[in-house]
Amino acid sequence: MSAEFPTLFSSLEVDGVHLSNRIIMGSMHTGLEGHPFSLKKLGEFYRHRARGGVGLIVTGGFAPNMRGWLVPFSGKLSNAWEVRLHRQVTDAVHEFPTKILCQLLHAGRYAYHPWSKAPSAIASPISRFSPSAMTHKEVRRCIDDFVRSACLAKQAGYDGVEVMGSEGYLIHQFFSDRTNQRNDEYGRDQKGRMKFALEIVEKIREKVQSPFLIMFRLPMIDLLPTGSTFDQVLELGQNLQQSGVSIINSGIGWHESRVPTIASMVPHGAFAWVTEKFAKQLQVPLVASNRINSPEVAENILLSGQADFVSMARPFLADAQWVEKVRNGKRSSINICIACNQACLDHIFEGKKASCLVNPQACHETDRVIRPTWKPKKLLVVGAGPAGMAFAYYAAKKGHHVHLWEKEAAAGGQFTLAAKIPGKEEFQKTISFYLQEYSRLNVQMKLGKTFDFHSFDGESFDEIVFASGVRPRVPRIDGMDHPKVIFYDKLLTLPDSHHGSYAIVGAGGIGFDVAEFLSHRSLGATPVEDYCKQWNIDQSLTHAGGLSSHHQHPSVSKKIFVLQRKASKPGKDLSKTTGWIRRKILSDRGVEFLTGVSYDSIDDRGIHIRQGEKKITLEVDRVVICAGQESVQPELPPLTIPTHWIGGCRQARELDAKSAILDAFSLAAKI
Ligand code: FAD
Ligand code: NAP
Ligand code: SF4
Repeated sequence: MSAEFPTLFSSLEVDGVHLSNRIIMGSMHTGLEGHPFSLKKLGEFYRHRARGGVGLIVTGGFAPNMRGWLVPFSGKLSNAWEVRLHRQVTDAVHEFPTKILCQLLHAGRYAYHPWSKAPSAIASPISRFSPSAMTHKEVRRCIDDFVRSACLAKQAGYDGVEVMGSEGYLIHQFFSDRTNQRNDEYGRDQKGRMKFALEIVEKIREKVQSPFLIMFRLPMIDLLPTGSTFDQVLELGQNLQQSGVSIINSGIGWHESRVPTIASMVPHGAFAWVTEKFAKQLQVPLVASNRINSPEVAENILLSGQADFVSMARPFLADAQWVEKVRNGKRSSINICIACNQACLDHIFEGKKASCLVNPQACHETDRVIRPTWKPKKLLVVGAGPAGMAFAYYAAKKGHHVHLWEKEAAAGGQFTLAAKIPGKEEFQKTISFYLQEYSRLNVQMKLGKTFDFHSFDGESFDEIVFASGVRPRVPRIDGMDHPKVIFYDKLLTLPDSHHGSYAIVGAGGIGFDVAEFLSHRSLGATPVEDYCKQWNIDQSLTHAGGLSSHHQHPSVSKKIFVLQRKASKPGKDLSKTTGWIRRKILSDRGVEFLTGVSYDSIDDRGIHIRQGEKKITLEVDRVVICAGQESVQPELPPLTIPTHWIGGCRQARELDAKSAILDAFSLAAKI
């Protein structure tokens, strides 16, 4: 029990299963679910989280049959021989008091393969494969497949199942009239559309008695203009209670909804108010989810009666020890999930194994290992950006004596600039995490200390690691010395940049961030209200789908242009899961994108460009340069000791914090 977070650490018995605290590690696809040999690795991944004290884990989705696969050969639990493989997962978790549920997920029309089946033959906008409609017999068989999977899950040692009934997967497709146009008993009206979900739960409960949890992910808010109403979802929830569910988890949106639900610009606990509306009318325990990453937010949700459990997923990729650290009063040493999606969801969408930007060992517990060194060395690290900070952390963990020099007055490098972007403020917490760990690991950090060729006495160190990073590229445009020109690193440190008009040269990640920085406006009283207004989320839940029809986009008083030489779509290379959000926000605010341009000059009038044959003058107050990066490589004396280069100073092309931290980890693991 923690004195600071008593509700979070209170236990609860549900359907004969004792849960030691109110913290659930929510379901995440890791990319380890599919291959039979990778289930051992999956077990190792969960073992680390169970050792870290989480009360309940929900696995990534396992399909009840092959048609339900998300992609060919993704996870499945439908045959007796698979039970033995799953034992590797449950045995690993049950070394600790943690409980584990197997998530049963049928992709329906979201499947990325040609054998997909759905209630009706209506294609999804996010899969290139069109489903065929299930016959009545196939529907009955599919229900039996869910039940069989649940029985196999019990045999495999799971403490229950989570039935995935939301986010637009098969069960949700049956429940919604936008995807279910059947005329048989599994369609037609609300009663028919609920039948598939209810029969699955009823039949599982018939076959598998307590102690065995059935958690159901209820599609609480569709975030689609043609979605279900609050009353329809509530009726489903009430019927599920009668059918034998143990816990109801919050499902927020469809994958095809055009509302961000977990990206960094979504405020903490942004959907707890939705769960609360159901909590007032349902009797079974409820779980709040989405953008909960701190114990304060979690405790508050529980204390205020919005939910009985909190579910966090990505925070457990970032820090397997999250629960133990909170319990032991070491909250400030949590490696916080910064909601970037870069190594988790983006990897999954690219068909790669998930990991974590701030914790490259996540999902690589068996192959990215830091072993104590038998020969401690005295190491100098030059530069305290993400690469230098991460290297110092891992090398000191191994037992090396690490000295870290940073020329600026504060650590963090370019990541401190990233933290100035609205929605990315938490990036600063990654820097704070390393600083906090340095006192424990005895890293000797010197701020305001520049590595300098002339004054360097290399003899006292065994090896040097350069992590001196990048500087903004200076493009060749006439008038670069004009006072209107400002580089992004300078602009982001100015106290007030919210007046005037701007042309941004470069539409990469930083160009987009600078446009966000310049155009951002607060709309309401709290961050959640602001966010709901911006995305037309109806907090009264009186509109179907939870979206109101009127648009309340902030008007931007100043003119902002974002320019790019390529003719391709601006932001084409931004991340798959967040790029569309960033493009939409900026275009809603009236930011103008000009592509296929060439730059002539900059003068008192502004910037002169060409677009094809057309000459254009953009009469702006400032021209902000975001034209990429160059490596910073300090001049070196003739050294006899080994030197290494990591992060941006090794390679500026395609550099981001994910690659910088992974680079640092890889060197630390072998040095
Ligand atoms: P740097 O961050 O450049 O750090 C190098 C450090 O070395 C600096 O602190 C510098 O002062 C110090 N140094 C240099 N020379 C010396 C010397 N001679 N002696 C001592 N110290 C020295 N990446 C992402 O992955 N996701 C994002 O969302 C993201 N957003 C961004 C938003 C903005 C606005 C910016 C500017 C960057 C963003 N990035 C993002 C990029 C990310 O910050 C960089 O890729 C990352 O910081 C590179 O890390 P690094 O350690 O290699 O270099
Ligand atoms: P970037 O993504 O490579 O974009 C550089 C931009 O500058 C491009 O739009 C490029 O487009 C333009 N450019 C390149 N050379 C130019 C020149 N000589 N003259 C004029 N324009 C030029 O780099 P970045 O925006 O600097 O970002 C740096 C890194 O940080 C990237 O790896 C990025 O992924 C990362 N980052 C990530 C995020 C995130 O949210 N994930 C956010 C910010 C930054 P044209 O060549 O077509 O003009
Ligand atoms: Fe969180 Fe980013 Fe790590 Fe994903 S990659 S878990 S979003 S910090």
